[in-house]
Amino acid sequence: MDHLTDCVHPDREFSMKRTLKIGVSARLAHPRPDGKGLESKTLQYLEQSVAQWIMARDVLVFMVPSVTHGGMLNRSAIRLSDYAKSLDGLVLQGGADIDPAAYGESPLSPEWAGDRTRDMYEMELLHEFLEDGKPVLGICRGAQLINVAMGGSLYQDIATQLPEAIPHVADAYDQHVHEIVLEAGGLLEKRLGGAAQRQVISIHHQGIRTLGRDLAVEARAAGDGMIEAIRGTGRNFLLGLQWHPEFRRPSDTDVLDCLPLLEAFLDASRRRGWL
Ligand code: MN
Repeated sequence: MDHLTDCVHPDREFSMKRTLKIGVSARLAHPRPDGKGLESKTLQYLEQSVAQWIMARDVLVFMVPSVTHGGMLNRSAIRLSDYAKSLDGLVLQGGADIDPAAYGESPLSPEWAGDRTRDMYEMELLHEFLEDGKPVLGICRGAQLINVAMGGSLYQDIATQLPEAIPHVADAYDQHVHEIVLEAGGLLEKRLGGAAQRQVISIHHQGIRTLGRDLAVEARAAGDGMIEAIRGTGRNFLLGLQWHPEFRRPSDTDVLDCLPLLEAFLDASRRRGWL
């Protein structure tokens, strides 16, 4: 029977048969001091729209739980590196601020102290996937985390530290849009350059200040030049989007459709899986 399968190009056979497995980092909700029931527990969760956005293609989505010590059960020897080996790619989803200590600063205000626990968990996750040569896509906080993990820094609060900036957050939340400008010659220009829309749903009070090493700017906000997308310049597929492609509704015809970027991420996941 071997001669039959030999007739099929390996990549073609592969893409027809294999369903990609994509990991998504967990959001964390920490116990509230006066919390009752679930609020007295640590929650690890997935925001529905990010999973559904990834599932716009034939992909199995798995949330990767953080594996902390000190739980009630002694866990096995399974580590985050085992998840990296088993999955084809990683999406770092949005959420809490990054602790300024991660880029050598103290919080300028107590409410910007961020979530150190999640930072440590996601940085290890990022490291393990990159170490294993697996593609990583960061959304919002995920893009900031990639930048900080590569030695870059953030504005702790854009409105305070850069008063001339355009609004990057508003009460409209997931309907707040602004325009972006794609960098010439980048991956985004290649994949999205033909689209007429330049509006993205961008909701963030922190933002990239200095760029980490081995990263290139892929897009900036029109109006203030805020970095809105970054890409790793190494061999690995590493992309960070400051905006939320998953919040775009089908009726948002004036908002940039970023499914071509999801496809680029999945293409890279499939190639690496074959290797
Ligand atoms: Mn923005």
